[in-house]
Amino acid sequence: MPRVLLLHTGGTLGMAGGRPSALRPAAFFKTLKARVPELFQLADIELQLFSNLDSSEMQPELWQRMATHLHQQLPQFDGAVVTHGTDTLAYTASALSLMLRNPPCPVVLTGSQRPLGEVRSDARLNLIDAVLSALEGPREVTICFDSHLYRGNRARKVKVAEYDAFDSPNCPVLGTLGVDATFEPGLRSKGPFRLFEKLDSRVLLLKVYPGLDPALPLQLLPHVRGLILEAYGAGNFPIDPELGRSFMPLFTQAKERGVPVVVVSQAHRNGVDLSLYESGAAALAQGVMGGADMTPSAALVKLMQGLAYHPRSPEALARFIQTPVAGELTVGRPTVEPPARGRRGSTRRTKAE
Ligand code: ASP
Repeated sequence: MPRVLLLHTGGTLGMAGGRPSALRPAAFFKTLKARVPELFQLADIELQLFSNLDSSEMQPELWQRMATHLHQQLPQFDGAVVTHGTDTLAYTASALSLMLRNPPCPVVLTGSQRPLGEVRSDARLNLIDAVLSALEGPREVTICFDSHLYRGNRARKVKVAEYDAFDSPNCPVLGTLGVDATFEPGLRSKGPFRLFEKLDSRVLLLKVYPGLDPALPLQLLPHVRGLILEAYGAGNFPIDPELGRSFMPLFTQAKERGVPVVVVSQAHRNGVDLSLYESGAAALAQGVMGGADMTPSAALVKLMQGLAYHPRSPEALARFIQTPVAGELTVGRPTVEPPARGRRGSTRRTKAE
């Protein structure tokens, strides 16, 4: 039997309770054995408890512990499943993808919209599909949810109360688990399995909106080491000094203080091109970096990691931010592809048919 590690971190799938009381973490492994005994027919599954938290409690220090633990454990398994709450699942998937480079086996994150103990729970199928993806899917960090496998660092939580909670608008799905399960080959591994566990979490993620007074983030600059700006469209923000809310003083101050600024888009599809409009071009001239089609969560973790590994070289940091290390961004002009969901995978059929 192939060996699969199932590392539980928490989330709705392991919770109990519900209206009129609040959902809270419960004994997950007991429920798992009772509700999905057939999971253990797919593989020899080792259950490990990492934490039992609502994922809104997830923090960079926990990512560091999780990545270090997985780095130690993965060589002993054929695949790994990490169960996690959906709220910060895309952040954790981004973090693990950047911290565990060239994993020796698939690392699949999953969760659910309803607890496993409930009759209409989506947890049972998500768990079975995640184990199958851990056995037969691509050797990278992915998210398995509602019969689809997504690249972890490209995914976004897009729905709160429907079962298809995730999407990866800038990256085709890596697997479709319908009547047949089909998987894409995924990333080509480049080199040995390595752990990059260091993160500098002193990063501010700021969304641009009409009415935002840039004097506010300006006051925060002395307290941060890096800034991610979720800008409009292709990477736009106000720069007209006469209208009173120009971002240019923020960029100039950031440059003087050595605080790198990375711009990503509020739009889910495609990415930023700072050379397209005046505001982006003015920011570029102040050393602001375009984050291409990275999701804000991937850009956030990548900047945390870049600051930790390149604290004194702005050039090395810029190279790191703009070069994909785990498939998290498209180089050059972000491509316009057909929507990710619903596209059929083209390669392997599952051996478990
Ligand atoms: N609050 C929950 C969590 O992220 C939501 C979920 O799991 O769906 O842990």
